[in-house]
Amino acid sequence: MDEKHWDRSDEDSIGQSYASWLVDLQNKGLRSNGLIKDSRRGGAGPSDDRAFVLGDHSVMLPTLNGPAESSPYSLVSTDSGLVLQYEGKKLMYVDPVARPKFYDRSTTDGIPYNKIAVLHSSDVLASTVIQSCIRWAPNQRCKFCAIGQSLEAGNTIARKTPEQLAEVVQAAEALDGIKQITLTTGTPNELDRGALYLAECVKAIRKVSRLPIQVQCEPPEDDGLYQVLKDAGATTIGLHVESFDENVRRAMMPSKSSITLETYFAAFEKAVAVFGKNQVSTYVILGMGESLEKTMAGCARAAQIGVYPFVVPLRPLGGTLLENAAPPTSDYMEGVYRQVAAILASEGLSSAASEAGCAKCGACSALSSFEKLELSGSESYEKL
Ligand code: SF4
Repeated sequence: MDEKHWDRSDEDSIGQSYASWLVDLQNKGLRSNGLIKDSRRGGAGPSDDRAFVLGDHSVMLPTLNGPAESSPYSLVSTDSGLVLQYEGKKLMYVDPVARPKFYDRSTTDGIPYNKIAVLHSSDVLASTVIQSCIRWAPNQRCKFCAIGQSLEAGNTIARKTPEQLAEVVQAAEALDGIKQITLTTGTPNELDRGALYLAECVKAIRKVSRLPIQVQCEPPEDDGLYQVLKDAGATTIGLHVESFDENVRRAMMPSKSSITLETYFAAFEKAVAVFGKNQVSTYVILGMGESLEKTMAGCARAAQIGVYPFVVPLRPLGGTLLENAAPPTSDYMEGVYRQVAAILASEGLSSAASEAGCAKCGACSALSSFEKLELSGSESYEKL
């Protein structure tokens, strides 16, 4: 990172390593003061956020949720560029990831490409292929999820066809140099849980692109569907447990928690047998009242199977049932990141060895920064 973007005296004044500092920034979010116009609101996964380049890292920072509105981190515009401040004190220059060129295109039937897929971080093309979910009823939906919001707001379409996705992938690869693709889905039924439709989408993309693709869905009833997805051309799979504490799962996911942790662990075994070690990941949201002991035991058990536990802080998203919840504290998150990074190292798993998906991208979490600290055995400042 050049001096323009990182001032060591400022770093010392914060008194934390880059990794620790990123934890705090991702937890508290960023007051953008109207300087960032195109943050993503609603949708599956983390949202109400914006991608920024910090040195050679791309990170997703909350800019629209409640914590961001009162964050000590803020943006100001100067003649030299946008400056990230902490309580009014300059930290560094930051660059928002530029709006991708493919956003300006539309399909022949007039659907803007960015209603079919969006850019995550700086080089990930992401799409929710089926935007509806059988679990979206008011008393059934996952309390952290905003999958219905972007559909209601008209920012996306309910179902993306395989042909539309292939068209957008071609454009995003040619115009914006995307490096990987993530396809997720709402859950359309209790049987294949969207896996068969994901396979159709992957097959269509494979006709036009060799980029690595992660598919994300609930564990399908039929274990044979992992091979179907792999044969279609999927590179990795995300089976998102959301929490390793069954009490929290029941409280936060009234419907999805009917798929028990034991079902997930059985699915992990089957998926790793097909996709390989480090090519299966699970999403673990922290700060929902979970037991730390159960969380660490779950991460360790998943990692022993070969599954990368991608831990992220709760993002209280606008419009969700948790929109007024507080995110976890930075101390809590840092402790978890350190322990999970040690688990990953001892099991020979890493973000770098993952070929596609959230584990590979890492922009919503500080975990990969703690992996680097763990590998270097260093508590010192990470050199960007
Ligand atoms: S970590 Fe996952 S959800 Fe976050 S930006 Fe990357 S691909 Fe998207």
